Amino acid sequence: MESSIVRPGDPRYADLTTGMNQRYASKPDYVRLPRSTEQVAAAVRDAVSSGRRLSVRSGGHCFEDFVFHPDVRVLLDLSGMDTVYFDDEHRAFAVEAGARLLDAYERLYRGWGVTIPGGICYSVGAGGHVTGGGYGLLSRQHGLTVDHLYGVEVVVADADGRVRPVVVTRDSTGPEGDLWWAHTGGGGGNFGVVTRFLFSSPGDEPLVRPPEDVLVAVVALPWDRLDEARFARLLGNYGQWHWANRDAGSPGAPLSSLLMLNHRSNGCAGLVAQIDANAPGAARVLEDYLGSVAGGLGGGSAEVAIGEFGPMPGLERPRRLPWLQATRYLGTNTPILNNPTVRAEHKSAYTRTPLTGAQLSTAYRQLTRPDVDNPNAMLVAFSYGGRIGSVAPADTACAQRDSIFKLLYQSFWTGAEQDAANLAWVRDFYREMYSGTGGVPVPGDRTDGCYVNYPDADLSDPAYNTSGVPWHTLYYKDNYPRLRRAKAAWDPGNVFRHAQSVRPG
Ligand SMILES: Cc1cc2nc3c(=O)[nH]c(=O)nc-3n(C[C@H](O)[C@H](O)[C@H](O)COP(=O)(O)OP(=O)(O)OC[C@H]3O[C@@H](n4cnc5c(N)ncnc54)[C@H](O)[C@@H]3O)c2cc1C
Repeated sequence: MESSIVRPGDPRYADLTTGMNQRYASKPDYVRLPRSTEQVAAAVRDAVSSGRRLSVRSGGHCFEDFVFHPDVRVLLDLSGMDTVYFDDEHRAFAVEAGARLLDAYERLYRGWGVTIPGGICYSVGAGGHVTGGGYGLLSRQHGLTVDHLYGVEVVVADADGRVRPVVVTRDSTGPEGDLWWAHTGGGGGNFGVVTRFLFSSPGDEPLVRPPEDVLVAVVALPWDRLDEARFARLLGNYGQWHWANRDAGSPGAPLSSLLMLNHRSNGCAGLVAQIDANAPGAARVLEDYLGSVAGGLGGGSAEVAIGEFGPMPGLERPRRLPWLQATRYLGTNTPILNNPTVRAEHKSAYTRTPLTGAQLSTAYRQLTRPDVDNPNAMLVAFSYGGRIGSVAPADTACAQRDSIFKLLYQSFWTGAEQDAANLAWVRDFYREMYSGTGGVPVPGDRTDGCYVNYPDADLSDPAYNTSGVPWHTLYYKDNYPRLRRAKAAWDPGNVFRHAQSVRPG
């Protein structure tokens, strides 16, 4: 049977031709909604044989226009392929590419008591998330999602012009081994259409066993208590704690935290922290963490939206919650992202050491700028480190393994007339933070490039990246040549491409 086709004029067309970020739109000839691997292969074959450029959407959360681009003539929407099951043949958990993260977590946990250590937002799609590496609140304890990737089924358009599904695994060698490896952080939209992921952990456990319960704390930090010195202590101590607890064996490894620094016009910044409640001394580790980062700053109940989250009152004292309930709460309480008019800009930085005094000062100045009045302009720091660092940089395509946190510079707004001001603020902030290295966080002692799942077209633009270090080095470092080899072998015709796709070898 053929997959459904939605063409212009169909009432579903408008919904299917945009994703989360309303800055990007596409006008494809048609959208295809496959429900099986064979239907994906047929859809790719049709697009290739008619010379139409295609793009693939799973969850539609791409930060750039890689899916929803005016040049795209055929859009493959995999949202109907969202099954999660145990694959007896491969002895692995199969997650179809269109599954949203919360669906995957619920089905894996309820069915088998396992999970993957992926991202927070419930509606991110497995298709883009896993191919880009995928990290979340369990990553300091269990590594990246791709550290548990056993295999992928991917529809390729190979050197002979044949469109076909292949299954490649951790045990594959030669070009097949390269194709598996390319899916451990090489990024979506590069090598083919992933139809399903196969997960099994390399060790004795079949897959990650999440904590039974977690302790969760959400603390609002009023901006009127944050002068420059206190702000520097807050962001500085966040870095110092992550530095001290960077090893997989450190007492803080089961703890993960987001420091959300909204522009002052929001009234509050905030801290979210979660720890495995059964980890040794969990309550004390969490208390010490909150004290060392946010002590003395007048923290209280999160009655207002902070970061990407809606209000989360009553968690200023840590609460013990079943892991899945905490995951559902944090993952779905994101009104800003469900706003159908939201527009956004994002930039990222892998960070290997606590920030310098000059960077703390820049962050304070940018976040208190009087000419900015968008409460949803923000800098967010995400915990990294722990078990993420126990995998060597070349073992997966995710080369950045010893960062202690990631920074995400971002802004959300709703009207096109506000685009210029918001883009200017994010660009200015980022350029100033990395002014010593050409305006971008080049791999070096303090920074380690950018996260491919937080793509940023400016990295390819010499007006914004004056470092001389190309975008692909910022994302992949020394892993880029092997990605190009995989590209040359599996997509020599560059069927799968976007502004920052891996170039054929
Ligand atoms: C609100 C929000 C929260 C986020 N939180 C986290 C987080 O906590 N942790 C984290 O690691 N990341 C996070 N991210 C980043 C997220 O991992 C990436 O945006 C990811 O690429 C989104 O995947 P998607 O399928 O939803 O997006 P899409 O827009 O559908 O796809 C993203 C890219 O992957 C390609 N792609 C999609 N499906 C396939 C497929 N089946 N086969 C091949 N290529 C495909 C697309 O062509 C595109 O290039 C977040 C993003 C957002 C918007």
